[in-house]
Order: sequence, then C-alpha cells, then structure tokens
Amino acid sequence: MCGIVGYIGKEEALPVLINGLKALEYRGYDSAGVAILVDGEIKVKKSVGQVKVLEKDLEHEKFLGHLGIGHTRWATHGAPTESNAHPHTDCSGRISVVHNGIIENYKELKKYLETAGHKFTSETDTEVVPHLIENFLKQGNNFDTALIDTLKMVKGAYALAIIDRDNPETLYATKLSSPLVVGAGVGENFLASDPSALIGKTKKVIYLKDGEIAKINSRDIRVINLEKEVSPFEIIQLEWNLEQAQKGDYPHFMLKEIFEGPEVVRATFRGRVRSSKNLVKLGGLEQVRERLKEVKRIIILACGTSYYAGLIGEYLFEEITKLPTEVHFASEFRYRDEPFDEGTAVIVISQSGETADTLAVLEKAKKQDLLTLGIVNTVGSTIARETDAGVYNHAGPEIGVASTKAFLSQLTVLIMMAIYLSKDKSSTKVILKELEDIPAKIEKILAQSDNIKKLAEKCRGYDNFLFLGRRYNYPVALEGALKLKEISYIHAEGYGAGEMKHGPIAMISEDFPTMAIIPQNSVSDKMLSNIEEIKARKGPVFVIATEGDERSASLANEVIYVPKTLEPFEPLLTIVPLQLFAYYVGTNKGFDVDKPRNLAKSVTVE
Ligand code: GLU
Repeated sequence: MCGIVGYIGKEEALPVLINGLKALEYRGYDSAGVAILVDGEIKVKKSVGQVKVLEKDLEHEKFLGHLGIGHTRWATHGAPTESNAHPHTDCSGRISVVHNGIIENYKELKKYLETAGHKFTSETDTEVVPHLIENFLKQGNNFDTALIDTLKMVKGAYALAIIDRDNPETLYATKLSSPLVVGAGVGENFLASDPSALIGKTKKVIYLKDGEIAKINSRDIRVINLEKEVSPFEIIQLEWNLEQAQKGDYPHFMLKEIFEGPEVVRATFRGRVRSSKNLVKLGGLEQVRERLKEVKRIIILACGTSYYAGLIGEYLFEEITKLPTEVHFASEFRYRDEPFDEGTAVIVISQSGETADTLAVLEKAKKQDLLTLGIVNTVGSTIARETDAGVYNHAGPEIGVASTKAFLSQLTVLIMMAIYLSKDKSSTKVILKELEDIPAKIEKILAQSDNIKKLAEKCRGYDNFLFLGRRYNYPVALEGALKLKEISYIHAEGYGAGEMKHGPIAMISEDFPTMAIIPQNSVSDKMLSNIEEIKARKGPVFVIATEGDERSASLANEVIYVPKTLEPFEPLLTIVPLQLFAYYVGTNKGFDVDKPRNLAKSVTVE
C-alpha cells in the first residue's frame, strides 16, 4: 500500500513527483507529501487528504530542485495527520525518507533513539529510519554504511526512498517485501512503487530485489547489496501505454475498465488460442511442460477478487482438467501447516504481482519444492519473477481500486490453463470457439448499461443486499457482493443459494433484496426453487438471466439479461452486470468509486 515516487534529473522534480503521486493515489490517499532538495537544503511539504490538496498547498511555494521524493499514505501507524504524513526527517533535517510497509520493531528502536536524544515528531513507525541513519552517521560512518547498518536493525517490510542533503547527486532506494521499481530515463531517473506511475516517462524499469540498495543519479543507476557488493539487474521493457493509464472520456477508471472487458478478454487469449486448430499455447508454461504432466493436485492461493477468480478456477480445473483442486485465502494459508504431497502444483493469482500474503505463500510453497505457477498482470513484478512459470494477463494497467477487468482476464487465463493441462482434448474445440465469442457477448451486456443504471437508482435506498448463485455462479455471487461493499459501502453478502435455508434466509424481508444469478444451466431449476422461497418471504428479487428465459424473469422484480454461453464461461458474462451495478449504486450515492474509503489497491502489508 501507499505510493512512493522519486526523481533525479534535468527537469523540475516537483511536477514529476505530483504527477507520479496522482498516478499512484489508488494505493493510498489519506495524506501526501514531498521532499525536494532546494539550494542545498531539504524542503518538505505535507498535507492531509488527496494529492490535489498537497498540490494546492504548494501553489504559492517555491520548491525548485532536481532531486526529490514523494509519498501518498495509507496509514498503518498513527492517524492521517500532517505530522504523520511522509516524508519523515531526522533531527537535523539532513535526511528525508518515504516508506511503504511496517517497521515491526519500531517501538524498541524509538525508545533507544529517544534515550540517545533524538526528538520524534510523529507517531509513525517510519520515523525511526531517518533517526537511525542520523545515529549511524554521527558515529562517523559514510552514508552507505549508515544506511546499511540501519537496514540491518529494522524488522518488517519496507520500500524506502531517501534523500540526503550531503549527497545532492543521489537518490537512494531500498526494499524488503514491499515493491519498488526504478525507471531508467535519459539524463533522468525515476522511482515508483509500481510501474503505472512511470507510464509516459519511461518504458524501461528495474524491479529492485529484497536487500538491494539502488544509488541513482541522473545518468546512472548502481545497485549494491547489504555487503556493498555490486548487484546485477535486469531492465524490463513495459508494454503499457499512456492512453491505458488515463481516464479518457470516462468519468471514472472503474467504468472505463469495465468497458474494456471485451478487449481485455481478447488481449488475454490473443495469440494463445486457435479453435480451428484445437490449440492452446501458453508460452509461459512451456518451460515446465514436463513437470506439469506429473501434477496430481492443484492449490490456488490468492486474496480478494483474485481469490474469487480462483474459486471459479476450482470448478474449471475439476470439470475440464479433471484434477482435484482447492482454493485458499493466501492470508490464511500462510499460517497453516498443510502437509503437501508430491505432485501438488500451486497457482498464485495477483493483479499487481506484489500482494504481500500471496508472496508469502509463494515462498512457503517454494520451500516445499512445489511447482509454482503465477497468474499476474504486472510484467516483471515480484510474484511473476518468483514463480517457476506463469501466464501474464495482458489486461493493461488497472487503476480503479475495485478490480474489474483484471478479474475477467484472470478467468480467461484459468480457462486456458484448464484446457492446456487437460489430457482429454475432445471438447477443446467447442470450448475454444466459445472463448473467441465471449468478447462480443460481453459487449451485448455493456450495451444495457442504461438499464443497469436505472436498476441501481431503484436500489439506492437499501442498506443490505444478498447475492445468490450456484456452481460457477456461486463465486460470482461472492464477487458481486464484494464489488457492492467496496464501492457503495452497502452491507452485501454472497451465498451459495443452497445454503439459504441453513441461516441466511432469516434475514429476508421486504427491505432485504436478493440479486440472483440464474443463467439457464444445470442448476437453474434448483436456483428457481430457492428464489421462490425468498419471494414467499416477501424479499425483493433481481435476477441475472439468460436472454429469452421467461421463467426466471417471471419471478423477478427486475431482470438483466446475459447471452447464452457454456457453463464454464458464465462468470465472464454474469459478473459484468454486477460490476456495473456496483459502479452505478456507488456513483449514485456520490462516492469516489475509484478511491473507495479505507481501501488501497495493492495490498503490500499484512
Ligand atoms: N507504516 C507507515 C505509516 O503508517 C507507512 C504506511 C504506508 O505504507 O503508507 O505511515
């Protein structure tokens, strides 16, 4: 969480930092700040609220300099106040630091530093870092040694960008378990928490590895480890373009990204499937082809929306690949003592490729020598690098905090993987042909967005919502409920419809509506009976049904139609109206749907 930016080069640093922070604002937005080296002194400005507040506060200030760092915060330690906002400095004002993560042993370090006479001005864990560096500098060390000694003392997770008044030509960066990328420019270099902040500045990025320190000047990037040895790095070429990272004519990124759904599905399978040839080609898995033949069990690990994609993956792998599959929250699985058998493959799913818990379970699986596969959107990210093999989403940057298009892409990858791993190819052709038709079917749903908007207006007054589905649409119900919670702050629960009688039906009343996902499929009769039970208890019912299905429509107060498809593909269609529904309920209530309260996009702390 939180966004870090840094700049050194020929341009004025401030506008670069502010634009970078705006691009990263989806990572945290409770306060923001910058530190810039101006005429040999570090000047710091911090403001509570979004980056635009900081920008306004800086309007009449002179912050002219070519080296600087910036931060948009997602508070973990200390309220979102000006004094807790980053950057943080040492007592002398020589060193300025921005931090993403948590310094777990900050209490002891703070006590030790206070005893040594250091004065703290914030409640954050972060502030120990500049004071520790100051402490080691006072002992006569040079800056590199003072920084390394500091890093050896702090425990926890961090991405740090640091500037030192007495090293005016260097921007320092280092990380442990939190993401940080260096952007390589011409006569200028950049730092950012993730590459989306660098779009339009450079397409060349270097992902720092844990325990590395980057020393960046305007012409050169040097990377060393904690033993001061030179650490080799790889420059990765970004595919993303500026247009993808801008809202264009859309009022919100979320809406733009929902409408990108058809193209995202196409981009995900482009060059990878050919129905006429019965072919799925996943280049990223080729290197582990032989090991994949030995796989007998799959464990999918992920968080949030990616976890729900994983739940759909469970049905897909069992039906198409015939492999026993289970799915767990990465945040829970990391603390379990599950015994693994040989032949288990782990699939981790993460849009950002930096999700802290997912990364932790990946490390755990690697220690057990399990085959690890990734489904990741961000090229070169930590999870992408750390897995044995994987499939990129190619969904383009996802900026809206609530994931939409990445979910569709994850489902598309899971379908392709399920076919790729399946030994029985008899139904492959039919499945691939349907996959190629999915984008046009999503377009048909998007064309009904006005109807969904009207439905959202009608639902604005409800405080609660139930989402019901079965089989492939059970995880869709969970994801539909999550979208509504995230964006509209309405209490929403997703349930498997068969579970209603085991408890949730007690909640049903005239004021407690149900969104039922009932495409015509192998379980629609069961779903319809469950809906009758809700109607009998006066619960309002809204239905997602297959085009032309009068039976489902007759039960519903309102109905939204989706085109007919094969059952494994239903989630790719049924989730789209639910994403739009959440979007319109949220905007109707006047909420900033791209930056929902308390949330940050990429969860890089536990
Ligand atoms: N732990 C730090 C704080 O609370 C950094 C949080 C962040 O990553 O934004 O200020």
